[in-house]
Amino acid sequence: MGEFQPPSSPLPTPVFTPPQSSRHVPPPSETPAPPPTEATTPSPTPSSPTQSISSTTFPLPKLRLEIRDLNHKGAPIFLTAVPASNALQKSIQDVLKLLYVSPTTKTSTVPPTRSVTLILRSMPGVAYTTGTELDAEHKEIHFSLDYIQNSITAPRREHEIMGVLTHEMVHCYQYDAFGTCPGGLIEGVADWVRLHAGLSPPHWKKEASGKWDAGYQHTGYFLEYLEQRFGRGLVRRLNEKLRIEKYQEKRFWTELCGRPVELLWADYGKSFKKEKGRNEEEGKEGEGRNEDEECVMVEKEDTTIPTKKGFHAEPKSTSTNPRVT
Ligand SMILES: [Zn+2]
Repeated sequence: MGEFQPPSSPLPTPVFTPPQSSRHVPPPSETPAPPPTEATTPSPTPSSPTQSISSTTFPLPKLRLEIRDLNHKGAPIFLTAVPASNALQKSIQDVLKLLYVSPTTKTSTVPPTRSVTLILRSMPGVAYTTGTELDAEHKEIHFSLDYIQNSITAPRREHEIMGVLTHEMVHCYQYDAFGTCPGGLIEGVADWVRLHAGLSPPHWKKEASGKWDAGYQHTGYFLEYLEQRFGRGLVRRLNEKLRIEKYQEKRFWTELCGRPVELLWADYGKSFKKEKGRNEEEGKEGEGRNEDEECVMVEKEDTTIPTKKGFHAEPKSTSTNPRVT
């Protein structure tokens, strides 16, 4: 693990290694857990068209569910919100179809993940994914029962649980350039998949300020811009590139998109401004006609539910510097 391997070599072990450099790790405060809403209808689908997901199915790994505390109030909430086996299977199929198309696609290589164990337990934060100590091909997704109990309003339970599961499932199946990929890009790919699975939460907002690799939906929407600009399959090619080589920023992006990432990010900023300008123009034209609808769109924060900062919890071994996994 860690050595460069040509594409024809055997599969690298797809350990999801937490980012090596804190430079790339977005602080948890940048990715607050979704604010609870009082929405009574399912969340809207992403503003960009959801990529059509093919109907081919991939072979599944061994799937396990471990509930560490059945007396925790979050446990029955989880069990009634989603059928556990289907939830895991569906999130795997969505992830694999978006990152690898089909089991027979020759241009992408599915990692040999052998098992995924979903562990529901009381812990701070939302969720994280890790390889087991003995074998990185066995993955564990730790999902907070406290988060499930306290931070998701009843109408959003299924959608949010599936969204978090899908994000974490990406970490069970994505490549990380032998541990050299920036954490923000790893998290961006995970949220790009979540977006395309139609599971983006209502608080997600496309914006183009700050750094391209701030992670999560911030980077996810940037990846979506690149998909639209360079053609469907860009993120799949990006993931495949992370399978075969170590990450060297300038070379990586120039080979993938023909331009360094800073320029691509600047292009995205311009395109975003234009799009925003157009939307505002349209908004002005429509002013006065749909005031009622606009009022309905405003999210109301429920102050009785604690707002948790940070999409991910800290893995058990760390103390002061939360790692994104
Ligand atoms: Zn993540």
